[in-house]
Amino acid sequence: MLSHLNAPQREAVKYLDGPLLVLAGAGSGKTRVITHKIAYLIEECGFSPAHIAAITFTNKAAREMSERAAKLLQGKPSRGLTVTTFHSLGMQILRKDAAHLGYKPRFSIFDAADAAQIISDIIKTTDKGEIRGVQQRISLWKNSLISPDLALNQSENDLEQHAAKTYLAYQDTLRAYQAVDFDDLIRLPVELFSTVPEVLEKWRSKLRYLLIDEYQDTNGCQYQLLRQLTGSGGAFTAVGDDDQAIYGWRGADIKNLHTLREDYDRLHVVKLEQNYRSTIRILRVANSLIANNTKLFEKKLWSDLGLGDPINVMAAKDEEHEAESVVMRMLAHKFEHRTRFADYAILYRGNHQARVFEQQLRNERIPYQLSGGSSFFDKPEIKDVIAYLRLLANSDDDPAFIRAVTAPKKGIGTQTLEKLGNYSAQRHQSLFATAFEAGAENQLGTRQYHALMEFCQFINNLQFRAERESAAVIIEDLLKAIGYEAHLFDSEEPRAAESKWNNVRDFVAWLSKKGEEDGKNIIELTQTIALINILDNRDSQDLDAVRLSTLHAAKGLEYPHVFLVGVEDGILPHRECIDNGLVEEERRLMYVGITRAQRGLTLSYCSKRKRGREWQACEPSRFIAELAQDDLRISGRESAPEVRKAEGAAAMAAMKAMLKK
Ligand code: ATP
Ligand code: MG
Repeated sequence: MLSHLNAPQREAVKYLDGPLLVLAGAGSGKTRVITHKIAYLIEECGFSPAHIAAITFTNKAAREMSERAAKLLQGKPSRGLTVTTFHSLGMQILRKDAAHLGYKPRFSIFDAADAAQIISDIIKTTDKGEIRGVQQRISLWKNSLISPDLALNQSENDLEQHAAKTYLAYQDTLRAYQAVDFDDLIRLPVELFSTVPEVLEKWRSKLRYLLIDEYQDTNGCQYQLLRQLTGSGGAFTAVGDDDQAIYGWRGADIKNLHTLREDYDRLHVVKLEQNYRSTIRILRVANSLIANNTKLFEKKLWSDLGLGDPINVMAAKDEEHEAESVVMRMLAHKFEHRTRFADYAILYRGNHQARVFEQQLRNERIPYQLSGGSSFFDKPEIKDVIAYLRLLANSDDDPAFIRAVTAPKKGIGTQTLEKLGNYSAQRHQSLFATAFEAGAENQLGTRQYHALMEFCQFINNLQFRAERESAAVIIEDLLKAIGYEAHLFDSEEPRAAESKWNNVRDFVAWLSKKGEEDGKNIIELTQTIALINILDNRDSQDLDAVRLSTLHAAKGLEYPHVFLVGVEDGILPHRECIDNGLVEEERRLMYVGITRAQRGLTLSYCSKRKRGREWQACEPSRFIAELAQDDLRISGRESAPEVRKAEGAAAMAAMKAMLKK
């Protein structure tokens, strides 16, 4: 099993004397160390799979990791093995033990949109920027384990005080709804473990060895959870690369790499230096770029995969021209080299950049898969259906109640809901519970009350069945009973309605299959749905399609040929990051992009872009000038000064080479 590893990788796999950090550059086999170590622990060290937990960054990565580990184990059962994200580990812990914190096991999980709605209600504004500001502030507090009270105490001005008060009200609201947000999925287990030692003991004896991938992107809260679970003995392997830390904006802290050294004085560090992914040229370009960042750790990276082709840098007139050129170049390459579509990835900084590429790919009838974009689960029709499921799982989930009771409408109007809301506030109860209160009929009026009762009884009945019958049966009955198809066709244009109904059918099929595979009922599945991360590709590996992905979502992955597009100042680095002095994180993001490529890499940028109705001139990214210029091949009509300089240098070099001959 270990014969497919180099010496330091083998050392990392076999090292079990204490905490271990594998610190190494991109493509050096860090993730491979983790999969092999899982198999090694089970196969060679007699660990029961149930005592091992590997933590990855996305559900997709988790899936891949368990498949690889299973392969290495050659069919030896790995039942009970935990391969998961920090968030779903947190969810599992809370599902079992949240009662200690006053939560029921069927708490709801609110996504960013639900959370934004609550904040909007609290601060009484619809200004998205303002809401996002407060939301980020609260998230940072949570990730640093700062409670609302502490936040209030520490606040130094009116603005901070206002945010801290909002934080307090926000927490109260979540609690009233028996809901948690994504940050809570990690924060609450930490709170639980520090207040109830027996529960921590129980989890420690269950999870005896931890493996953490992409360690550089853990935040303070995740680090605490890791510390609690591994205790002072530190039975864990963390692997990471400080040059690929790209989640600072979400509270991740590269300093955790240093903290690990301070907190675990027995920490053993293994460095990997051979890159098995990319050609020499790709690596040279990546290394020259990242050399412009202040260094945290000294790292070397080399490859024996050959020099490879030069990196293409392509200038385009505008976005459409860029998309056209990229797709044409890809097609030409594909025909020449007889590759598959799946060998190509188009990577970009922000989701909005995908649209023109999608359009172009569709024009050329090229299959593609989009990931890291706005999720399937964010579509209004899917959110409608999920609202019912959430309500089945937790009838105190007021936002789900409101959505379900109005989609489709059931003779319960805004006024009735407002009255119910006021009454429920007086009674300190959820909307659902309040409907059953003695005074409800008086408050709402008889007709409205009966409409409401009918809805609540319906939910009650279905709830009873949901625990006993299969997910497939429940969801079909639910859709029939609420007349969702007819509702879509009544309220939308036929084509729009049809497309939405198809989405719902896809969702039903997915849910039924998942229910069957995992042996879970619909209530258990509902919490899992909430964790299907926007970073997750609904991606099937065997599909021969071009991959379209954000840089963030491409972390950890590799593709034979990569097109990194929109490499312009203002996009990469992002304007906001330039203004806030966060260019180093953007440089790491570009580094992540470059190092996804195995053999081919093309960077492209536009000379102008449309912003709303206006054209805006664009400058090529400052990062292009930082790349090892000898490894670039510049093309395109309008090139910018740095590129022209590089072009000049390349032409000179070519001339010299010719003269030598
Ligand atoms: P990243 O920093 O991007 O997450 P990584 O360090 O996790 O990269 P892996 O994804 O584990 O790197 O490995 C990169 C590629 O190199 C994979 O295709 C992997 O299978 C291959 N690889 C790693 N180690 C070896 C080895 N010893 N022999 C052959 N191939 C290897
Ligand atoms: Mg990796």
